[in-house]
Amino acid sequence: MGAVVIVSGLPGVGKTTVVDLAMDMLRNEGIKVGLVNYGTVMLEAAKEMGLVSHRDEMRKLKVSQQLELQRQAAKKISKLSRNYDVLLVDTHLFISTPRGKWPGLSINNLQFLDIAQIIVVEASPTEILKRRMSDKTRYRDMADEESLRKDIEYNRMLAATLSIYTSCPVAYIPNHEGEAEAAAKMLYEILSRMVRDIGHS
Ligand code: ATP
Ligand code: AMP
Ligand code: MG
Repeated sequence: MGAVVIVSGLPGVGKTTVVDLAMDMLRNEGIKVGLVNYGTVMLEAAKEMGLVSHRDEMRKLKVSQQLELQRQAAKKISKLSRNYDVLLVDTHLFISTPRGKWPGLSINNLQFLDIAQIIVVEASPTEILKRRMSDKTRYRDMADEESLRKDIEYNRMLAATLSIYTSCPVAYIPNHEGEAEAAAKMLYEILSRMVRDIGHS
């Protein structure tokens, strides 16, 4: 089974942007790296079941439905990880549901995933707000700087908890305005080090 790397961060912080850039750098190293977006795997199943038509509708489903989609996705991701030395999983440590913050990784799905590294992509509340507003492909929740500050803190608490549960290091990657390439380089360097540490085929 390949090593799973969790790439997390608040919605709109730039996870997908940074991870896409880092993939090109990692592939040039001869490491068999894969990339999967957890939400996309859930969305395929949710669409087949006729539950939603857009990824941003999933967090409004009943928690019981999200739990089932989340569990199915973990099993698929676990199977996929067998094809790689390293599989990057673009996901969230919590999802804002109408019932409150719900964990993206918990006993429901962690049992299927062999996690080797946790990455948290971060930016300031002002930067996140600006990115959410400029991205017209998404239906993002309204937020203000104060609530984002609390969400950043909560995300850090979850990262620390996940670190204890998995015995994995957590690396924080700042993704400042116009500096996605620099963030990708930092991610690439951490993952190269991780591969040297755990070895690859
Ligand atoms: P989600 O969790 O909702 O999928 P995300 O964390 O994957 O969000 P992205 O979709 O990668 O976020 O980025 C959100 C928006 O911010 C996009 O329009 C992207 O182009 C922009 N963006 C990402 N990183 C930067 C950066 N360093 N500077 C400026 N804009 C950025
Ligand atoms: P994203 O494109 O990364 O924002 O993901 C889209 C949606 O997928 C999120 O808003 C959540 O509804 C769902 N999602 C992503 N990762 C997880 C996860 N680990 N657990 C549950 N739902 C998730
Ligand atoms: Mg994304």
